[in-house]
Order: sequence, then structure tokens, then C-alpha cells
Amino acid sequence: MTSLPGLEPHHEEFRTRVQEFADETVRPVVEEHEREGRFPVDLVDDLVDAGLYGITIPEEYGGEGLDNRSFQIAVEELSRVWKIPAGIVSVTCSLVGTSLAKFGADWQREEWLREIVETGQVTALSLTEPEAGSDAAALETSARRDGDEYVIDGHKVWTSHGEVADFLIVVARTDNDGEHGDVSLIGIPNPQEVDGVEFVRDIPCMEGDAVVENEIKYEGARVPVENVVGEEGRGFKYIMSALDIGRIGAASQGVGIAQGAMDESIAFADEREQFGQPIREFQGVSFKLADMASSVQAARLLTIWAAQNLDAGHRVSQQAAMAKTFATDVAMDVTTEAVQIHGSRGYSKDYPVERYMREAKGTQIYEGTNEVNRQVIAQHLYDD
Ligand SMILES: Cc1cc2nc3c(=O)[nH]c(=O)nc-3n(C[C@H](O)[C@H](O)[C@H](O)COP(=O)(O)OP(=O)(O)OC[C@H]3O[C@@H](n4cnc5c(N)ncnc54)[C@H](O)[C@@H]3O)c2cc1C
Repeated sequence: MTSLPGLEPHHEEFRTRVQEFADETVRPVVEEHEREGRFPVDLVDDLVDAGLYGITIPEEYGGEGLDNRSFQIAVEELSRVWKIPAGIVSVTCSLVGTSLAKFGADWQREEWLREIVETGQVTALSLTEPEAGSDAAALETSARRDGDEYVIDGHKVWTSHGEVADFLIVVARTDNDGEHGDVSLIGIPNPQEVDGVEFVRDIPCMEGDAVVENEIKYEGARVPVENVVGEEGRGFKYIMSALDIGRIGAASQGVGIAQGAMDESIAFADEREQFGQPIREFQGVSFKLADMASSVQAARLLTIWAAQNLDAGHRVSQQAAMAKTFATDVAMDVTTEAVQIHGSRGYSKDYPVERYMREAKGTQIYEGTNEVNRQVIAQHLYDD
């Protein structure tokens, strides 16, 4: 790839390293995991060994201490091959890792965060509820104080990696309605071992059976009060801050998925012959490839721009929302056209483009739907 504005030579070297990992370690196991509906927990150790897990987590807590552009590159290059490992890295570095690294108590960073990134623990963030989706502030899960414990009651849906997570953050209302509200983040190590945390089901979803999306009931689940991340009542502020990098992660997934689908389409259009010539020689096909190439590159540049601004210490809510919306819409468009270019083969599971299309759809919904992200972008047009 030619050099990209916003990246330095060391970023390109890092990209090469992630590409090798994705092609040599991830690619050979995708098909088998997808067919068997198996979550790739085994890949997390490989990510740790390759120095690709706690990418943005400071070195003092066992992470790689790299910048947000490196995170962007890693998530993109993993998604180019398979979105699930990219999603595992994304949750750990963004919503969970950023909340702990920026706002957690020293002991939480030292014990929880270090263990997560050094030993390759899978993480999860349990925010969405049946009646509180886009309107996350309407959440009803409560964490009532009883002595030195919280008693958690509530119902969550779509907690990615929930039942396989070694560490989960649940978002709940605590008793005190302070200056900043009453929403708090509460860390739960080994949630499967906590009485009152019931993994009701793995929601069957479009992406397939290898991904894990849980519905969880919290019924009188007790955790120590010291497990609150940062200050009680500031949870919403922390989530909003972590969402900037979370949305850069989702955007990067979009770029990678689109690039993967485009690579497959370029190769297929060269191989497949109809009417006595490779189909790429038909303008109807080559123009699709040309549009894919332009939009993937535009999405990548927008995402790097958001990550670069975050690296420079700016608040990037609007940029991250722009990157997330644009890149994930590109992913949906490109993967749909990739299936079309493959004809009936694209519609079959013999080729990976139908998987890319299923992966793309989810990216338009999580980390704030693209409608909600458009609202964020529009609001900043007046506020800034
Ligand atoms: C694959 C996947 C993984 C996920 N992972 C997690 C996770 O790990 N943790 C977690 O807590 N949650 C997770 N979620 C949940 C996700 O964050 C929510 O699905 C999302 O916030 C939307 O909420 P909802 O599904 O209830 O849709 P709703 O909020 O009911 O929205 C329905 C439709 O209405 C639109 N809409 C809603 N409000 C507005 C508005 N104000 N203006 C315009 N349009 C609007 C939406 O854009 C959407 O098109 C995941 C979801 C998916 C699909």
C-alpha cells in the first residue's frame, strides 16, 4: 500500500506485522470455526503472543502502549480476514480497556487490566437492555448497596462475548443520584461463577454461530462495592469517552471487511469467464470494482484522520461518528456488490463474500446505530 496521510513509517511496519498475523494465523482457521459455530477463544493467546492484544493499553499495565492509529490498523487488518478476533481486540482496547485505564482505581488497573492483556482474557460490556437500545440512558438495571456489596438486578441483551468473557463490565444505576447522574460501571471478573448472573441464551444472529451475543439476567447478583470503576454515578461520562475509540474500532472493522470483500472480488473477476472473457473486462463489473476501491480508501482515510486526532489529544466525537457511519455504510455497499460480482457463487457459503456481507450489517448497528451517529455528527455542526 502506498503511504497514507496521517501515518508514519512505523505504522506501515506495524501494518505489515498485523497482515502477516491475519493471513498466517487467522485465515487458516476461519472456515472451520464458522462451520462449527465455534468462538475463537484460542486465537486470543496468539494475539497476546504477537503483541496484538492490549494495543492501546499503557505498558505500565501490561499493554503495548501503542497509539490509536495502531489500534485502527490492527482492527482493520484483522477484519480484512475475520471480524470476530477484531471484535475481541476492539472491546478490550476500547470500551473495557479505556474505561479501566483512564478511570479505574490503581488496584483495578494493576489486577484486572494487567491480567486481561497479559493473559489474554476475553472481555465484555453489558449495556443494552430490551427497552434501552439507542436510548441507552433509559437503562433500568440497578445496583443497590447492601453493606459492602452491590446487589445487581436487571436484564441485558446483546452483550458480545458475555458467556465466554473472563471479565465483564455491567452498566447499572446505583443508589446515589449525584451531580453526574446515577449510572455506574461495575467490573465483574469471571461472571459465570457469580450467583445471580444467568446467561439466558446466545442470541441466534445474522453473523452466524461462531459469534457470541448474550441475553443476560442479573437477579440478586452480589459484587463488592470496590468493583465500581472510577466514581459512582459517572458511568455514562466514561462510556461516552470510551465510545470515541469504540467507534473508531467499528469504523476500522468496516474498512477491513470492505477491503476483504473487495480483494475477493478483484481475484474472482479476473478468474471467472463468461462470453469468452474474464468478467472484469465488462464495464458493468469493472466500474463496481472502481467504486469499491475509491470508497474503501475514502473510509480508511476518514478513520485514520479520526484516530490521528484522538492521538493528538482532541475530543473526536464528531470525527469518530463520521468515520463509523461512513466506513460501515461503505462496508455494507461493498460487500453487497461483492456478492453480486460473484453471482450465484457469492450467494453460497463456498465463497467468503456472503460472510463479509453478514459481518458488515452488524457494524451499522453497534457502537450506536448509524442513525444515532448521524445525529451526533449533525449536533456538532451547531455546537462546535
Ligand atoms: C452484533 C451486535 C453486537 C452488539 N454488541 C453489544 C455489546 O457488546 N454490548 C451492548 O451493551 N450492546 C451491544 N449491542 C447492542 C447495540 O448497541 C444496540 O443494538 C444499538 O444500540 C441499537 O439498539 P436497538 O437494537 O435496541 O435498536 P433501537 O434503539 O430500538 O432502534 C431501532 C431503529 O430505530 C432507529 N432509531 C432509534 N432512535 C433513533 C433516533 N433518535 N433517531 C433516528 N433513528 C433512531 C435506530 O437507528 C434503528 O434503526 C450489539 C448489537 C449488535 C447487533
